[in-house]
Amino acid sequence: MLKDYEFWFVTGSQFLYGDEALRQVAADCEIIVDALNKSGSLPCKLVNKTTVVTNKSAVDIVREANYDSSCAGIITFCHTFSPSKMWINALGALQKPWLHFHTQFNELIPNEEIDMDYMNLHQSAHGDREHGFIGARMRLPRKVVVGYWKDACVQNKIGRWMRAAVGAAVSKDLKVMRFGDNMREVAVTEGDKVETQIKLGWQVNTWAVGDLVAVMDAVTEAEIDAKMAEYKEKYDFATDDIATVRYQAKEEIAMKKMLDSEGCKAFSNNFQNLWGMEQLPGLATQNLLASGYGYGGEGDWKVAAMTAIMKAMGEGLGGGSAFMEDYTYDLKNGISLGAHMLEVCPTLGSGKAKIEVHALGIGDRKPPARLVFEGKAGKAIVASLIDMGGRLRLLVQDITCVKPTQTMPNLPVARVMWKPEPDLAVGAECWILAGGAHHTVLSYDCDAEMLRDWARMMDIEFVHINKDTCPTKLEEELFLADLAWKLK
Ligand code: MN
Repeated sequence: MLKDYEFWFVTGSQFLYGDEALRQVAADCEIIVDALNKSGSLPCKLVNKTTVVTNKSAVDIVREANYDSSCAGIITFCHTFSPSKMWINALGALQKPWLHFHTQFNELIPNEEIDMDYMNLHQSAHGDREHGFIGARMRLPRKVVVGYWKDACVQNKIGRWMRAAVGAAVSKDLKVMRFGDNMREVAVTEGDKVETQIKLGWQVNTWAVGDLVAVMDAVTEAEIDAKMAEYKEKYDFATDDIATVRYQAKEEIAMKKMLDSEGCKAFSNNFQNLWGMEQLPGLATQNLLASGYGYGGEGDWKVAAMTAIMKAMGEGLGGGSAFMEDYTYDLKNGISLGAHMLEVCPTLGSGKAKIEVHALGIGDRKPPARLVFEGKAGKAIVASLIDMGGRLRLLVQDITCVKPTQTMPNLPVARVMWKPEPDLAVGAECWILAGGAHHTVLSYDCDAEMLRDWARMMDIEFVHINKDTCPTKLEEELFLADLAWKLK
């Protein structure tokens, strides 16, 4: 999906310095863009577009960017001074994410070479401040990245912002299929779908479970054979109950057909709403998740959509992003055990997952087949999008996943264990104060900065729980944010 998008590099200057200086500006920017593309840090192509020297040239390039569906954002840099009144009409019309790159063609000041011509040509220190003022004056959402364009950490920052911007593009196009409604009486999985579409672009609609059953009934034995061959290649069979596994294959094939026929990249279902189905989809859902679809249990369409978006943002990074749920604690060692009834994505696993069949403690269906595995160790985040009534809040917490500390031989589901920041007790206090859900997206690939960038692009509230978070300060921040968002 990342390869479907590109970003445009737009340079700020003006006519004042003459043609020769503008030629030099264009040549330098060609070198910068070329180096960024060759750095290996950018997930998408950066296209060197133009040098803006008039109000009209700024407006023209922004209009073009707005209407080009492959353009996922623009990066501006003022090599020279570029008077900002010239940019007002353009930036006022900009509908794509914006990164203001504050760099300079030369890293050092050349002692012998420097004269007033050099100063005029290499004055981003000056020009980018004018550019920054107009961004602030117009209250425009933007990312500011500062540093030398050859530095790996600077290139990496741009690359990660690009991933957030692709997340914004994916969000604006996202369709979510709800099989039935939410779990009865649950509050946090509810939300204003109209508000969500206005802010995030999601088209969230419902299909009857009976429609899915009709598609399941039409699945052929040959299709199931092919799916079983795929399962055999990817997973270890720890069950002889092949008929139960074949039923999951049928569910997966039918769900995928419906998702693809409607162009949906995410879906939700609910164990209370399985009319005509013999098993809650477990393995079926897990294998769909592994191929990039988003999912939320108990009808949680918000977490389903966020899973799809974060999978797209983290594409190719190899860590994994998945629907997760805080289940139970090791209070002594400050560890949270995450799992779900069935539907944990095998991209979080270390080693090959096993297919097992067990009875489900909740609901009234037949024992379903599911993938069982252990989550891997590593730095990660958990993210929860909640509807605060009138606005959406994205809550992100830094965590460190650990190799599960116990074997838990009787636990029939996949499991992930982590230590939350700043520690379990303070972290959970902050999470609960902020209203974070029990459903999250756990990601080894996306970090808090990426999601902060995404939240800014989508114009929603962002709250980050990290090693420095303190509950009393957070409480004040949440109170002030509540006022600010009501005024906004
Ligand atoms: Mn759940």
